[in-house]
Amino acid sequence: MNCNVLKTSLPAEKVHKTRYAPTPSGYLHLGNLYSFILTATIARNTSASILLRIDDMDRDRFRQEYLQNIFKTLRFFELPYQEGPKDEVDFLKYWSQQHRLDNYTKALDELRQKGLLYPCACTRTDLQKAGLLSGCARDCSTKLRLDDPGLNWRYRTPEQSQFLQLFTGETIAYDFPVSMKDFIVRKRDGTPAYQLCSVVDDTRFGVNLVVRGVDLLESSIAQVALSHSLDNNTYATAVHFHHPLLTDKAGYKLSKSEGAESLHTLIKSSSTPSQILTLLAQRCGINHLVSHWTDFTYSELTSIV
Ligand SMILES: [Zn+2]
Repeated sequence: MNCNVLKTSLPAEKVHKTRYAPTPSGYLHLGNLYSFILTATIARNTSASILLRIDDMDRDRFRQEYLQNIFKTLRFFELPYQEGPKDEVDFLKYWSQQHRLDNYTKALDELRQKGLLYPCACTRTDLQKAGLLSGCARDCSTKLRLDDPGLNWRYRTPEQSQFLQLFTGETIAYDFPVSMKDFIVRKRDGTPAYQLCSVVDDTRFGVNLVVRGVDLLESSIAQVALSHSLDNNTYATAVHFHHPLLTDKAGYKLSKSEGAESLHTLIKSSSTPSQILTLLAQRCGINHLVSHWTDFTYSELTSIV
């Protein structure tokens, strides 16, 4: 991806709130634990507070045991947060994204009024056949209407570069990624899509430090563009930290599953927090004993390969 470094400053002094943003769509794995620990470490170093924001808008993949797994993991490793649900009951009662549908609808209305949305009936297969990674394959906007049933709503993404402030102090201009062209903001079933919910939520809760895997860099660029299209949305001013991805022994990206490296399996098999943290340390190339997440340092966590 093309990008230009524009300037250097010290954004670490400006951050005050970050978040863990897990999705209850599978059991968490060592990579998720790494991301949580890095977030907690950066928060500790910058005196930022942490919000627990669980993204449960995707109800097709939601399962109660995955939700429980999130709380169990945070408790098991004593990972702190100052804001958010304290348990599953509290989450479902007060913190679920289902309670914020009005916020998402308001954002969609605003985009619609600004002429930034169009309907699309294309399936993934249609896009593949047209050789597209994202966007519309059939010029749907001229033939369909937003209020027709069963259509995705696409956001007309800008052509111009997007600026991201990075935790390292740089502000970088990224070309808009082809993979995010005209990304979907409302799904066929009428529910708001992930990128829109995330941008709306981070603004609502005042998050201004986003720590996430480098695989989500293109998502961050897309979200910054979306933020600029919404009045009073602050996501575009957030500081970003895109961390390297932990891989399995064979070098492949970890996925949410019940495999040997899922935290669900590790915790269930009576491993202690220290044993699991030591396994994580080994995977990160760290060779000293760890018995608590605070035993990891920022420089160790950010220099994994
Ligand atoms: Zn289309």
